[in-house]
Amino acid sequence: MDTTTTKYCKRCKKDVTWHIDRVVHWKQLLITIISCGLWLPIWLMLAFYPTKICDECNEPIWES
Ligand SMILES: [Zn+2]
Repeated sequence: MDTTTTKYCKRCKKDVTWHIDRVVHWKQLLITIISCGLWLPIWLMLAFYPTKICDECNEPIWES
């Protein structure tokens, strides 16, 4: 796990502080039911790989 406190945000084009986006599981369950289970892999992915959110623009920071 990376211990640095800042990440490069492609949108802000600079190093920014970030927070982890908490997965709202009841919402994910709802989407999974609506999509007949198609959303399940994405839900699992969100649960196992928490998304880092930029503090400045609130966009997910995708690491390359
Ligand atoms: Zn940003």
